[in-house]
Amino acid sequence: MSDVQSDIFISGGGIAGLVAAAAFAKEGFSVVLADPNVPPSEESDPLADLRSTAYLEPARALLQQTGAWAPLAPYATPLEALRVVDTEGEDVAIRMDRTFVAGDLGEAAFGWNVPNWRARASLTEFLRNAENVTLRFGAGLANILTREREAIVTLSDKSRVRTKLAIGADGRNSALRTQLGIQVKTTRYGQKALAFIVTHDDPHQNISTEVYLSGGAFTLVPLPELEGSHASAVVWMNDGPEAVRLSNLGPENFSEAATKRSASVLGKLTLASERRVWPIVTQEANSLSSERTALVAEAAHVLPPIGAQGLNTSLQDVSALINLAVEQPDSIGSRAYLSAFEKKRRRDIHARAQAIDLYNRVCRSDAPPIAGLRSLGLRLVHDVEPLRKAIMRAGMGA
Ligand SMILES: Cc1cc2nc3c(=O)[nH]c(=O)nc-3n(C[C@H](O)[C@H](O)[C@H](O)COP(=O)(O)OP(=O)(O)OC[C@H]3O[C@@H](n4cnc5c(N)ncnc54)[C@H](O)[C@@H]3O)c2cc1C
Repeated sequence: MSDVQSDIFISGGGIAGLVAAAAFAKEGFSVVLADPNVPPSEESDPLADLRSTAYLEPARALLQQTGAWAPLAPYATPLEALRVVDTEGEDVAIRMDRTFVAGDLGEAAFGWNVPNWRARASLTEFLRNAENVTLRFGAGLANILTREREAIVTLSDKSRVRTKLAIGADGRNSALRTQLGIQVKTTRYGQKALAFIVTHDDPHQNISTEVYLSGGAFTLVPLPELEGSHASAVVWMNDGPEAVRLSNLGPENFSEAATKRSASVLGKLTLASERRVWPIVTQEANSLSSERTALVAEAAHVLPPIGAQGLNTSLQDVSALINLAVEQPDSIGSRAYLSAFEKKRRRDIHARAQAIDLYNRVCRSDAPPIAGLRSLGLRLVHDVEPLRKAIMRAGMGA
């Protein structure tokens, strides 16, 4: 089998890898993307990712620039406001309730929420019809050999790709990162997140709601109606054993527990999907690049699912690679290109990881002084206008 040549090779067809392929192809670079799995095209597929992602403005702008936002737009629900509710005790009593409105900043929305399986299916379809892109689903990265001027990737079907730049977008257990011998620093919290979809009595009015209690956040993110019922995607963070116990409850008992934990902010919740359990960690790779290779997204950093930062941070990695490539197309994959990428992204990733780590520790605590600080902090951040606007701008990815 003869070797395939491409400017860019992408290991991993998650959302980050697919967006990177669209962005490089749009700028005229040839791209080969490989993934051992074909992205599911139905929500009922056992491999479908039932989480949803709120695309903040910089992420939406990147997708618009590549032309890949249009196929996602029909499935995107605008998040016009963010309601934060602090609760306490066994009966989940509300002790502080504040709403941040995007219109306060003159914006239509904080972000746009799209189910992950839908985003992957639409992006894959978009790429099947795009110029400059070769999709190799069913074959993953098996091995990589790098030299000063190129990288040679061997896939699991023994075919080879010669490339100027190999990008690792192959997830938290990245095969490319392992091949390069790049280590990671991982912080574990003993927490797990349950991700599922619910229908509910009351309309969400395009408001995303976070309900805090010890154990972590319970987040309801607006979705389009589901067979005539109001619907939201939920991420419920909990101590590990409790998350496992909840995931094993029957649907009715689970719906009852979820309704109680949500402080009934949207009335009665009814489970409307499978439940998936995700371990919560903060993880940072010790390096974002090596000879002719760069790591992006969860291959480079994993963040707890708070404040819609995970994939949005990942798409900033992609933007950085693209912007550098557009500035100097002949330099892609060179030492200068990779060290500029490392410089652009490392500090931002580390700062976000530290901020979210601290936020998670405060948000899950039931120690009275810290839980009190949580309510006080929320009141302060919301009620002091300049602070409120600054925090809202930061949260929107500014
Ligand atoms: C519960 C939860 C909720 C979240 N909510 C949000 C949110 O609201 N907003 C937000 O911004 N972020 C959120 N995140 C984070 C976000 O979901 C992740 O950042 C994102 O899904 C990861 O995307 P990725 O492309 O890096 O990796 P993945 O989606 O894991 O994709 C990696 C791909 O690599 C492939 N692969 C594996 N091995 C190989 C190989 N050898 N060769 C080639 N390919 C390979 C896999 O098949 C997979 O397709 C959340 C995370 C969690 C846990």
